[in-house]
Amino acid sequence: MNGSGRWGLALRRTAACGVRVRGLAAASALLLLFAASASAQDGGPQDGGPRLAPAGTAIPGEKAIMLSSRARVRGAADVEALLADLVAFDTFHRSGTANRDHPSFQAMTAYLKDWCEAAGLGFADHGSVVVVTLGAGSDRLGLVTHGDVQPADAGKWAADPFTLDVTSEPGRLVGRGVEDDKGPIACALVAMRELRRIGWPLRRRVELIVSYTEESDWAPFQEFLARNPPPPLNVAFDAEYPVVTAEKGWCSVTVGIAGPEAAGAEGDAELVAFTGGFFLSQVPEDAVATIVGADDALVDALRAAADADEEATFTFEDDGVDEGGRPRLLVRARGLSAHSSKPEQGVNAITHLAALLATHDWPDSRAARMARFVDERLGTGRLAERFGDVAYEDPFMGPLTLSLGTLREDGERLVAGINLRRPEGRTREEVEASVRWAVEGWSAERGLADAVTLEQSIGDPHRVHDAPHVEVLLQTFRHHTGITDAAPLSIGGGTHARLVPNGVNFGPSMPGEPYTGHSEHEFVTREQLLDNLEMVTSLLVDLAVK
Ligand SMILES: [Zn+2]
Repeated sequence: MNGSGRWGLALRRTAACGVRVRGLAAASALLLLFAASASAQDGGPQDGGPRLAPAGTAIPGEKAIMLSSRARVRGAADVEALLADLVAFDTFHRSGTANRDHPSFQAMTAYLKDWCEAAGLGFADHGSVVVVTLGAGSDRLGLVTHGDVQPADAGKWAADPFTLDVTSEPGRLVGRGVEDDKGPIACALVAMRELRRIGWPLRRRVELIVSYTEESDWAPFQEFLARNPPPPLNVAFDAEYPVVTAEKGWCSVTVGIAGPEAAGAEGDAELVAFTGGFFLSQVPEDAVATIVGADDALVDALRAAADADEEATFTFEDDGVDEGGRPRLLVRARGLSAHSSKPEQGVNAITHLAALLATHDWPDSRAARMARFVDERLGTGRLAERFGDVAYEDPFMGPLTLSLGTLREDGERLVAGINLRRPEGRTREEVEASVRWAVEGWSAERGLADAVTLEQSIGDPHRVHDAPHVEVLLQTFRHHTGITDAAPLSIGGGTHARLVPNGVNFGPSMPGEPYTGHSEHEFVTREQLLDNLEMVTSLLVDLAVK
């Protein structure tokens, strides 16, 4: 299985010395880079696909190598300072307010405008999108990013998430947005400034497109694209290297279960509450259940089950007594947050707590019903293994993944928010029918048909075939990293790349490294930030300079 795509990708760094060059003195670096460039070209494109440069032209070209090395050295301090300034704008969505109307976004727009004017770059404010431009001409290259971020749970950070933390962890820059997606904005801006300063004539106008609503609502960006036709060639920096040519379809499945808060069962311990999670696209780190009337034997049994869980950790906390004088016990689960498109990198606190609760047979309550549903239909796996026949996979795009993101009380109901990411291989209607069958089958089996509600929104996967710049991006990556067997890959995340022509992602995170965007420990290493600056500069030269 998983013969290709990210699941079968075995990237390795070649050991050939000199190929992976890091901030060396210019002269020796250039010699090594030329040598690496020549050897990278010997074999030509691996897949024989179309390329933008004439056959035999080295990529990166001499100019790309020169300017990218220079950007790395000259731009190092600037890119970090710029990133610090961008992180300081707490540009997450507040419900009830359009991002474009919130002061944090307006302040960032004003800042970017000033920065671009000082750098000699064009700037256009479209409200929910800003566009930074370099050059003129009708042929255009789009660089697609976003300036909004996910919220951050400040209590989980060593320092303020909206102040770039350069000291807590040596070599790392920690802060909300450093990976997703303000680091890439900073790199693109500094690269464009370097390109402007050197003054080479351009064959493509460069447009850095910064969306302000990628994390919350894609409609404003789609409206922007309808009014402002995007460039025919686009590179997004919102995923990972080497080049992402496919993205799974985003699906939201919402299951509500109604029922009594408690059965009022005399003498029996009852499960009266079960909630957790922060937002749908994050693997939840926290969940909590409230149990009333537990005796010592039950607490001991739950503790033993908790000890047997090797991934999540649990704490048991006395919480006074209820109105009937019965002791209240809080059981808290702690998992590990991660981007929900990569559930294998997280530990889901809600599903692990459900598995713990399922070791006891509770009297009927909505929390007990939900715990049972979560345990029986979702489980602690990440591939919908228990969810009817929802699981499937595509040879290139990999398997469908499942992440239960949120569990909230909503009046008489408990509502579970489930995020699926689906590859090619089945139609939307087929997936909808599988989900319906899994949920309705369960509720019928449990005699809860009237208590369970289901809403679903099943998105389509995105796949780019034959984009003309893919080979240029691959060669850029191979050259600058020394990873010579890099090949296109598919990801679970959904990015704006899917909304623009020939939209592929190029970085910013390295294959095999954990993606820290959306987590409560978001960081980029200083070295990676400079690698990104170098590669963005390099591709700009090869794709935009005459
Ligand atoms: Zn992003």
